[in-house]
Amino acid sequence: MPDVQTADDALLARVQATPETGRAIPDAATRATIGYAPEHAVADVDRAVARAKAAQPAWEALGHQGRGDLLMAAADAVEANAEALARLLSREQGKPLSGPNARFEVGACATWLREAATAALEPQVLVDDGTDYAELTYRALGVVAAIGPWNWPLMIAIWQIAPSLRMGNTVVVKPSEYTPLSVLALVDVLNEVLPSDVLVAVVSADREVGARLASHPDIGKVMFTGSTATGRKIVEASGANLARLTLELGGNDAGIVLPDADPAAIAEDLFWGAFINTGQTCAALKRLYVHEAIYEAVIDALAAVAERMPMGYGLDEGNVLGPLQNANQFHIVERLVDDAKARGGRVVVGGEPAPELGPYFYRPTIIADVADGVPLVDEEQFGPALPVVEYTDVEDAIASANRLDVGLGASVWSSDRTAARAVAARLRAGTVWINSHGTLHPKIPFGGVKSSGYGLEFGVEGLKAVAEPRIVNG
Ligand code: NAD
Repeated sequence: MPDVQTADDALLARVQATPETGRAIPDAATRATIGYAPEHAVADVDRAVARAKAAQPAWEALGHQGRGDLLMAAADAVEANAEALARLLSREQGKPLSGPNARFEVGACATWLREAATAALEPQVLVDDGTDYAELTYRALGVVAAIGPWNWPLMIAIWQIAPSLRMGNTVVVKPSEYTPLSVLALVDVLNEVLPSDVLVAVVSADREVGARLASHPDIGKVMFTGSTATGRKIVEASGANLARLTLELGGNDAGIVLPDADPAAIAEDLFWGAFINTGQTCAALKRLYVHEAIYEAVIDALAAVAERMPMGYGLDEGNVLGPLQNANQFHIVERLVDDAKARGGRVVVGGEPAPELGPYFYRPTIIADVADGVPLVDEEQFGPALPVVEYTDVEDAIASANRLDVGLGASVWSSDRTAARAVAARLRAGTVWINSHGTLHPKIPFGGVKSSGYGLEFGVEGLKAVAEPRIVNG
C-alpha cells in the first residue's frame, strides 16, 4: 500500500501539466508551488462542449437506473481516493484535513453523489378525470456547464455535476482558477467509472474561458456558483443562448440571537456557523445581532470558543482553521477589520493577521460594538471576522437582517422554537435556520433570493432544475 503522501502526489501526477505548459498553483498556506494546472484556451472550450454533446445521447439512453448505478460507483471511487483527494484539496485550498474541512468536504461529495443517484423523480399526473389526462415528466437538457468557486471546490462541483448527470445531461466543468488541481483530480477519479466524454473539464486562469463556456450555443444550462458580479455576466450571456441558469451567488447572512437564548449552549454552533472553512463559505453567518440582555455573555462565550480553535497548516492534524485562500481575499478581510477598528469597533479576539503561520493567515476575529453601515457589517467579508451588533428591539434586528440586497441564509437563535419560527417567517432569505447556521442536507433544497441568486439545488427540486419539463397531454 502506498502511504497517503504518495497517493496524494500520484493523484496530482495524473492531472497536472508540465512546468513548461502549465500554470504554477501555490499551496494556499506556504505559497510553495504544489503543481501545474493545464491552461486551456477558448478553442478548447468549443472542443470540450463538442465532445460532451456527442456523448450525451448514449448517456441519456442508459436510463435512470444505468446512470444511477454509475453514480453510485463514482461515489465508491471518491471514497477509495478520499484521503488523497482531501490532502490535495487541503494544500491547494488551504482548509485543514481535520474539523468540518477537507475530509468532510470529500465525504460530502460521496454523500451527494449517492443522493443524486437514488432520489426518485416520478412522473406527476396533473389531470386524470376520465375526460382529460396529462402528466409532467422530465428529460435531459443536453450539455450542462458547471462553473464553480474556490472555497468548497469539490463539494460545489459535485452539487452541479451529480444531478446533471443523473438526469441524462453531460457536463463540462470549469473550476475556479484558484483551485483547478483538486477539481481535476476529482474529475479524474469520477472518470474511472464514467463513460468517456460524459464529464469533461476545462481549466484556465483566463476568464474568457468561463465566459465562452457560459455563452456557448450548445450549452443548455449553466450551474454557476460564485460572486454576484460574475453571476450578472452569466445572466447577460444567457440572452444569446437562452441557457437555463441556476445561480448561487454571494451572501451576507444575518443571525439574530433572541434574549432567551443560552449563550453557553449556542456558542459553539454560532462559531462554526460563522467560521466554517475559516469564514470562506457562501452561507456562513456574516453578521450577528444579539439582544442587549445577553450581548456581553454571547460575545464572551463566542470568544472562548474562538480562542481554543487551532489555526495552522492544513496537513497538520488537529488544526481546524486555515489561511485565506488567496491574497485578494486576505486583503478584503484585512481592510474590513482595520476599517471597523478605526470606526470604534471593539476587538474581542483576533483583529490582525497571523504572519507566523503564513502570509495569508488571519486570526479568528470577533469585532463588537459595530452597527449597520460599517462595511464589515454591510459587505461580504468571506473570511474569519465576525461583526457583532447589539439590539434592543427585535423589530430592529429583523429590519437589519432584511435591509441588504442579498438573501442566501439567515438564522434565529432561541430556547423557544415557536418564537424563533415567528421571527424566521419574517426573514427574507433562501434558508432560515433555527439554532444552527449553514447546515446542509442532500434532500433539503438550497438556494438564494434577491442578489444571492435563483434556482434550487439538492433533492428532487435539484433534479428538476437540470432537466427539461415535458407535458404529455392526452
Ligand atoms: P467568482 O465569481 O470570481 O468566480 C466563480 C467562477 O466563475 C470561477 O470559476 C471563474 O473563473 C468563473 N468566471 C469568471 N468570470 C466569468 C464569466 N464572465 N463567465 C463565466 N464564468 C466566469 O467567484 P469566487 O471568487 O470564485 O467565489 C467567491 C464568491 O462566491 C463569494 O461571493 C461567495 O459568496 C460566492 N459563493 C456562493 C456560494 C453559494 O452557494 N451561493 C457558494 C460558494 C461561494
